[in-house]
Amino acid sequence: MTLTPFDPVPSPSPIEPDGPTASEPTRDSTQGRPWAPRTRAVRAGIGEDGQFGAVIPPVHTSSTFSFEGFGRPRRFDYTRSGNPTRDLLERTLADLEGGAGAAAVATGMAGVTLLTHLVEPAELILCQHDVYGGTHRAFASLGRTGRVHVEFTDAFVTGDLDRLDDLEPKLVWLETPSNPLLRVVDVERICRWAHDRGARVVVDNTFLSPCLQQPLSLGADFALHSTTKFINGHSDVVGGAVVAANREDADSLQWWSNCLGLGQAPTDCAQVLRGLRTLDARWRLHEANANHLAERLQAHPTVVRVHYPGLPGHSQHDLARRQQQGFGAIVAFDLGTAERVRAFLEGLSVFTLAESLGGVESLVSHPATMTHASMDPSARRRAGIGDGLVRLAVGIEDPDDLWHDLESALRAL
Ligand code: PLP
Repeated sequence: MTLTPFDPVPSPSPIEPDGPTASEPTRDSTQGRPWAPRTRAVRAGIGEDGQFGAVIPPVHTSSTFSFEGFGRPRRFDYTRSGNPTRDLLERTLADLEGGAGAAAVATGMAGVTLLTHLVEPAELILCQHDVYGGTHRAFASLGRTGRVHVEFTDAFVTGDLDRLDDLEPKLVWLETPSNPLLRVVDVERICRWAHDRGARVVVDNTFLSPCLQQPLSLGADFALHSTTKFINGHSDVVGGAVVAANREDADSLQWWSNCLGLGQAPTDCAQVLRGLRTLDARWRLHEANANHLAERLQAHPTVVRVHYPGLPGHSQHDLARRQQQGFGAIVAFDLGTAERVRAFLEGLSVFTLAESLGGVESLVSHPATMTHASMDPSARRRAGIGDGLVRLAVGIEDPDDLWHDLESALRAL
């Protein structure tokens, strides 16, 4: 079958003809009542194996699938175009985000790449200025070669949307809370503004996952994830996903993912799915630890400023309370200078100095030289990412061990 851009991709039918689809959430078959998201995440695909009754869904590693006969392909024919294990992950993520469908891709950046193909090169992508450094680098670099037309703005953060009245974006790009300063933007308000202008809205939901924020229910058209982070949760796989609110966009995502070869490998999909089953349980520990550390850091005399939306003094605390179901587990704080950061990092023993976030183990990073080093220094300064900033990705270890580690390192400054 030859598909051209925007030809509808055959909609993913469930593995069992009467099984769940993304738009039709999984239901308790015995009582007909809807399952809570946590139950749907834990039970995704369980009991669907008709061949052996495997409880945990088998991983389909085959790159190709036999035809039933001449001109009679089965549901899947080639793994780049579609695969049962990837399909299960996509249906589960779409269900949890409340979307019509999803594409599971090789990395979060593959998700960014995929979304850039939903607009023409001349159409404007209007992007929040303080997004993840890799997203910023991709847009800035693709912009230089003319592959995308992108502008960055701080108006989504300041709320000063009137300043943007002369622009005609086709895609509005938000990340909330943002990386690494945990700025929260008003998704509902910006979606209304964007939709009035005929633009669609992407929200990078990596920092909260569908457990703590559902951008599509706030009006967004796409939710983007680096599943490398909280969704997988164990720092042992890289992955990404884009969930679309409507069927047509979901089909376009699938079409482009197949066309460009961005899809995630089935074994990685199975691993992400395993992580997803415990996401809700992990969040409770991540969040309790993050709250605890943010409060203690704020009270510490050596710390200049703490960025965590869960603190009542955070400038967008009320907004975060309204649009999120939790505050997440990323805490950033300012130690003033890079020299102090160096001394602090050398004093840590529980926190590991590493990029990334969302694993069960606590990590610490220095955004200016690590996660956001790929950003042009002037853009980094404009985004407020100073040399004294430290970012914690708080894990699920014992909170006293974590605080003791931070306190000892701070004491040595
Ligand atoms: N979006 C955010 C908010 C991120 O933090 C990251 C990576 O750190 C990405 C996207 C890119 O994800 P990946 O590293 O899986 O490509």
